[in-house]
Amino acid sequence: MNFLEERIVKDGVVKAGNILKVDSFLNHQMDVRLFCQMGEEFKRRFADKSINKILTIEASGIGISCVAAECFDVPVVFAKKSQSVNIDGDVYVSEVESFTHKHVNRVIVSKKFLGPEDHILIIDDFLANGCALQGLISIVDQAGGTVEGIGIAIEKGFQPGGAKIREMGYPLESLAIVESMDDATGTVVFRPQP
Ligand code: 5GP
Repeated sequence: MNFLEERIVKDGVVKAGNILKVDSFLNHQMDVRLFCQMGEEFKRRFADKSINKILTIEASGIGISCVAAECFDVPVVFAKKSQSVNIDGDVYVSEVESFTHKHVNRVIVSKKFLGPEDHILIIDDFLANGCALQGLISIVDQAGGTVEGIGIAIEKGFQPGGAKIREMGYPLESLAIVESMDDATGTVVFRPQP
């Protein structure tokens, strides 16, 4: 098991409805030393890529991305959830269905911060059905930028997002891939990684 898998086994809680709770170290209380390890691992896995910006989505992707950004020495842009119906022309817009809250969010990124010159690493905390990633990929496409890679902390491999994104041809690296989990026993099984 790698460092993140070990931490999930130690502190993660399996909830009903295919939810893995990791709020004691990842998306409520945040273990910044763990984030540093994750950032270094992303840097190692994407060492052959030329990346000048990290793109993520609020809120849970921001912490991991900021720490990873220090390893890559690049800025972070996060897609903002926007309530406003009248979006002016200065933003890229995408619709993202929330896995945890079951509603559709409109997410926006200012055109000032993303353009055709950008070579992007997309980072997020979880990958489930892939809606968040597809929204972020759409935003990079609208900007004319290039998705150089996608780094995920925890992929739930029993949900379809990972397969979809890999089929689309994107280099996707998930630090922990949960193959199965059981809320009755609390067991988590990981997909072996090289
Ligand atoms: P997707 O768009 O791939 O269906 O879901 C990804 C988003 O949903 C992530 O940004 C994450 O915030 C949330 N999410 C999905 N599954 C889980 C889960 O099992 N636990 C937690 N804490 N968040 C999840």
